[in-house]
Amino acid sequence: MHFIEVLLPLSLAKTFTYSVSEAEYNYIQKGVRVAVPFGKNKIYTALVIDLHQIPPTLYEAKEIHQILDENPIVNEFQIAHWQWIASYYMCAIGDVYRGAMPSAFILESETIVSSQKENTIEVSELSDEEYLIYEALQQQSSLKVQDIMAILNKKNIFPVVQKLLHKNVLTLHEEIHEEYKPKLVRYIRLNEEYSNENKLVSLLDSLKGAKQKEVLMHYFQLQAVEKKPISVKHLTETAQTSAAIIKALIDKNIFEEYYLQHDRVNFDSNKTASNLQLSETQSKAYSEIIESFNTKEVSLLHGITSSGKTEIYTKLIEDYLAQGKQVLYLLPEIALTTQLVSRLTQHFGNEVAVFHSKYSNNERIEVWNQVLEKSDKAKIVIGARSALFLPFSNLGLVIIDEEHEPTFKQQDPAPRYHARDAAIVLAQAQKAKVLLGSATPSIETYFNAQSGKFGLISIKERFGKAPLPEVELVDLKESYFKKRMKGHFSMTLIEAIAEALSAGEQVILFQNRRGFSPVLECITCGHIPQCTSCNVSLTYHKFKNQLRCHYCGYSIAKPTKCHACSSVDITAKGFGTEQIELELAELFPTKNIKRMDQDTTRGKYSFEKLIDSFKNREIDILVGTQMLAKGLDFDNVTLVGIMNADTMLYHPDFRAFERSFQMMTQVSGRAGRADKRGKVIIQTYNVNHNIIQQVTHNDFDSMYKEQLYERLIYKYPPYFRLVKLTLKHKDFEKLKEGSMWLYQVLSQNLQIPVLGPEEPGINRIRNEYIRTIMVKIPQDGALVTPKKTIQKILNSFEAVAQYRSIKVTLNVDYY
Ligand code: ADP
Ligand code: ZN
Ligand code: ZN
Repeated sequence: MHFIEVLLPLSLAKTFTYSVSEAEYNYIQKGVRVAVPFGKNKIYTALVIDLHQIPPTLYEAKEIHQILDENPIVNEFQIAHWQWIASYYMCAIGDVYRGAMPSAFILESETIVSSQKENTIEVSELSDEEYLIYEALQQQSSLKVQDIMAILNKKNIFPVVQKLLHKNVLTLHEEIHEEYKPKLVRYIRLNEEYSNENKLVSLLDSLKGAKQKEVLMHYFQLQAVEKKPISVKHLTETAQTSAAIIKALIDKNIFEEYYLQHDRVNFDSNKTASNLQLSETQSKAYSEIIESFNTKEVSLLHGITSSGKTEIYTKLIEDYLAQGKQVLYLLPEIALTTQLVSRLTQHFGNEVAVFHSKYSNNERIEVWNQVLEKSDKAKIVIGARSALFLPFSNLGLVIIDEEHEPTFKQQDPAPRYHARDAAIVLAQAQKAKVLLGSATPSIETYFNAQSGKFGLISIKERFGKAPLPEVELVDLKESYFKKRMKGHFSMTLIEAIAEALSAGEQVILFQNRRGFSPVLECITCGHIPQCTSCNVSLTYHKFKNQLRCHYCGYSIAKPTKCHACSSVDITAKGFGTEQIELELAELFPTKNIKRMDQDTTRGKYSFEKLIDSFKNREIDILVGTQMLAKGLDFDNVTLVGIMNADTMLYHPDFRAFERSFQMMTQVSGRAGRADKRGKVIIQTYNVNHNIIQQVTHNDFDSMYKEQLYERLIYKYPPYFRLVKLTLKHKDFEKLKEGSMWLYQVLSQNLQIPVLGPEEPGINRIRNEYIRTIMVKIPQDGALVTPKKTIQKILNSFEAVAQYRSIKVTLNVDYY
């Protein structure tokens, strides 16, 4: 009896046992995929994680359909890491498997495929079975994998589908496909016959068309200079000729055409940058990092904006590549990769690979395989959080830039992991070092650095010793009172914009929100009602005419006058980027104004296009949300305006003050040039607010101390770990009852704070009502035990018949 233990790409916490023949048993390795039947007539791509001889006790092991890989595509570091993620973030191992793999790797019966529009495949290149599917897709726009089984009249169809994917005949449904780059590239070479010099001479004499001769001369030139295959494209471009002329030469048998497989993403192998020259301050920081790595697994590089952290990372990467190690470089935002890739390829040529969700399936699989094979092309992998799941086996260094960014935490679906924290665990398993970088570290990370768990290296000056921008505060209350406002713009800001523009400089305006913010604000004094026990703003619920706390459930009726100044002028307030853009167009009608937020940057390259045209100075004023706050480097921006600091400050979240400090400091960091000090104007009702003052004086330390104290008092990270349980059901009463039951059992069985059950501001999504419960696990106590208790209680919750239909999701280290 021979068995394999597999993971299924389903939200199941268990592994499953299948039976295999002895021959299969000897052939299969851990980390290969097998197609297996599961449930009624469904087939899934399972991953083998073990081989053994123990039959399952609860069910009879089914046979597998097919072995899909000869060699492992997943390594043991990954499987161990997935298991850690499943256990730490309290989710099913199947969720981790599904989330970790590019979707083309895990076809299932329900997967929908459609034909790849741009494909140029020769039908003769298809096998009979491939052709059947190809033909079916000419009739129907899409097929389920299950339909394909019917067409081919067999179950083992995954290999055929994989081949068609590979040949670009098919595309998976969820795939975003813009700017497709062909995999096969057309090359030409001179016909053998003309390697003989005499024949070549007579050929050149015989050629009548001057243009054809010219193309041929260009071909020889390219060959002499570059000594590598010449693509049709390359020749067309250098000879400035047309495809027709090249075709004529091919038709005359002077050129032969052939195809080479190209990686879809290829960077120029020319390294253009001269030797990296660190400044004295940077060199010092670099040596300190090396020294810190001697004793610490993780170090934090706390360097102010424009201190040149990227240059230091680059130097470190050089060291690790020299040792033959792999390097992973995580960024908070896909959109940032373009700038970084161009900086890194200057140093490392085509040893840089990029991996993120906007890449097509084929592109992602290519990078996956390169990492698996430890290819030279993927010595450095740059990516957003999912790059963490690539099959690294030889990691030397992990860099996490802008480590404070909340986008490192995956919200939905499970696994709800934090890429920074998961990367630290991954690095530890491979004995790699981790460098976290930020100008505004998260409270959690700085706490770890202060307590000695992480190393700490600081840079307090900008590269080239440029001064930090000067911050000017505009008191909105006073400006409105003195009628020195036009719309949302103070005269001070309008004048500063006009001045910058007339000097040919560019302006960035930051407005945190896209839409409408539901807080109640006093027009007279700017006061926003706060929760009495949570230190967060109360959220205005129009429907119930209530103000509510989203953390403890505290609520009051909507006040009729301001608690602070008794004014009756209170409104639900908030304004978005769109409105700012409109007002600007009236104030500066001749200027080019563009908006950058989630609405304007949806397409694959739309963000890059905006950034490029801003860099090229085609845009005068860029209005944007927090996207602007992330590590972009512009050389002609001298003014940054923050439209309203208060909307950030009074966001109902315990991290609101920390986030406000980070965002304002980061956007401010975009102002200033090497030769000119930048200016930042912050409009606010709260000029004396501690956070505003701390931003103005670039006082990270005070911000940190103050926030840390609040976190301790109000039981938040880093002193407590948050586990948030979200319950959903269509039936309001059932949900209310069920969440109360769960809350009571949790608080009776856990000797730690359990809060709730709370009804969130948006208390119904897609017809389901929502309740949340928050568990706070003390950092200094055991972590595993409370989690086990929570899991056990959840199991018994599911066993209660009337609650079984209530969906519960868990979010560990809730952000
Ligand atoms: P940070 O990431 O710390 O905000 P960057 O790495 O983006 O800063 O550096 C800011 C600017 O200074 C960039 O334009 C970068 O090219 C330049 N710079 C930093 N260090 C050096 C260096 N050692 N040599 C040349 N240019 C540098
Ligand atoms: Zn007031
Ligand atoms: Zn509260």
